Amino acid sequence: MSSHIAYLVLGTNLGNRSKNLSTASSEINGLPKTKILQKSKIFKSSAYGPIKQPFFFNLALEIKTELSAFALLDQLQAIEQKLKRKKNSHMKPRIIDIDIVFFDDLKINKPKLTIPHYDWHNRDFFIKPLLEINCIQVKNRLSEINNKISQNLKPYE
Ligand code: ADP
Ligand code: MG
Repeated sequence: MSSHIAYLVLGTNLGNRSKNLSTASSEINGLPKTKILQKSKIFKSSAYGPIKQPFFFNLALEIKTELSAFALLDQLQAIEQKLKRKKNSHMKPRIIDIDIVFFDDLKINKPKLTIPHYDWHNRDFFIKPLLEINCIQVKNRLSEINNKISQNLKPYE
């Protein structure tokens, strides 16, 4: 089986945010044929988009996996469900959101899975943690996206 390098960004704005990130990270590390290679620091960000929500903690992971991109998505969604079930289920703010940002140099354009993530270059809470773990796809686009990076977004730890 061929192995792939993927970059994930995790976000949480409900409950014990640090614990949610560490639980999700160990679940990801425990997936079949999947290992975490690098983990960024935790970044604290204000909620993005039109809906007013509590602040987020974000974290980027570099993983090595033999799963296909779609199989990885299924597994990550199962982890999201597993973590949600532990707490109250109906919510807007989320215990955990796991997005696949890059998967090798793969391009997929389906509603179920869009890779690279459709909005990564506009989200400094993706860019900064990804840069911290030297994500090559972000580094290659740095001159174009530099103006999107807020000086205010800093590691929380
Ligand atoms: P969002 O991440 O935009 O806040 P959700 O986590 O609820 O929203 O995801 C909505 C849908 O996005 C999921 O059902 C998933 O199939 C789809 N999706 C498309 N591309 C990706 C990706 N790169 N990573 C994760 N989910 C994705
Ligand atoms: Mg998501």
